[in-house]
Amino acid sequence: MKGTVLYGPRDVRFEEIETPTITKPTDAIIRISATCVCGSDLWPYRGLQPVNEPTPMGHEYCGIVEEVGSAVRLVKPGQFVIGSFATSDNTCPHCKAGYQSSCVNREWMLRAQAPVLRVPNADGTLVPTPDIPSDDLIPSLLATSDVLGTGWFAAVAANVKPGKVVAVVGDGAVGLLGVLSAKQMGAERIIVMSRHATRQKIAREFGATDIVTERGDEGVARIKDMTKGIGVDSVLECVGTQESMTQAIRCTRPGGAIGYVGVPHGVELSGEKLFYTHVHLHGGPAPVRQYLPKLIDLVLDGQINPGKVFDLTLPLEQVAEGYRAMDERRAIKALLRP
Ligand SMILES: [Zn+2]
Ligand SMILES: [Zn+2]
Repeated sequence: MKGTVLYGPRDVRFEEIETPTITKPTDAIIRISATCVCGSDLWPYRGLQPVNEPTPMGHEYCGIVEEVGSAVRLVKPGQFVIGSFATSDNTCPHCKAGYQSSCVNREWMLRAQAPVLRVPNADGTLVPTPDIPSDDLIPSLLATSDVLGTGWFAAVAANVKPGKVVAVVGDGAVGLLGVLSAKQMGAERIIVMSRHATRQKIAREFGATDIVTERGDEGVARIKDMTKGIGVDSVLECVGTQESMTQAIRCTRPGGAIGYVGVPHGVELSGEKLFYTHVHLHGGPAPVRQYLPKLIDLVLDGQINPGKVFDLTLPLEQVAEGYRAMDERRAIKALLRP
């Protein structure tokens, strides 16, 4: 089969790779219904993270189970399933505590930008839908695999509760779905920092009440202004740069909380400065598995439509164009169909 391989900066190829097979008894093989390009795929694509050897790409996926290993009990061939980028047994102490993305048996997913995928820890990772979903639901179900689950975790980590004032730093797919998540959790005011008209529009549709276009010192001043000098209760930091993290900390009121889910690149924090801010910091790779059943239900019940973040759909073999479009910010997120 052909799959996606990153060779170096801006060099994505769709080329012949080995078709995966069951290698451990706990594996499942799924035929991909849809996959996509992640904002985090752009770090190595842009050369901001080294690519030392040709690297198979893709970690967001949903599809139909084709085959399961001899130890798999819950997942069955023929089911439509969704899984996270971090596989988990869902039974170890970290999983039981709700941190499946720190599972002791975790394996990071790769190779999902391909027609067939091997999923380790199948029983603890894959969540089936009750029936095979209709085609129009596929984008929203795919979104639960990472971007929605990650935005949701950002809101949980930022302690979003009914009546709270929330700011979202980052208007990529995760930030936009952080808005949706905060809205679902009952936030009263949701301020999005964005300079892009198309992203502002989707943010409003997802529940944003205010848009701030300023950044850095001006962005912080604007948010302080909007909150009578106090700052916001919760900040969802969905970028991962020094600038975005600093902005998040400075926008938060004493006692407030930051959920940070943008993979940090070169972020350094001063312990002393942090000490005097009185903010809670919680983040990391989102334990998407914890939220999948609930998020899938919300999608199937028609209560949310997170698939709106996919503003470009391409045949899988045009994956390189998906990367280009996201890199050049012509697309928020590219959905790929084999
Ligand atoms: Zn991702
Ligand atoms: Zn575990």
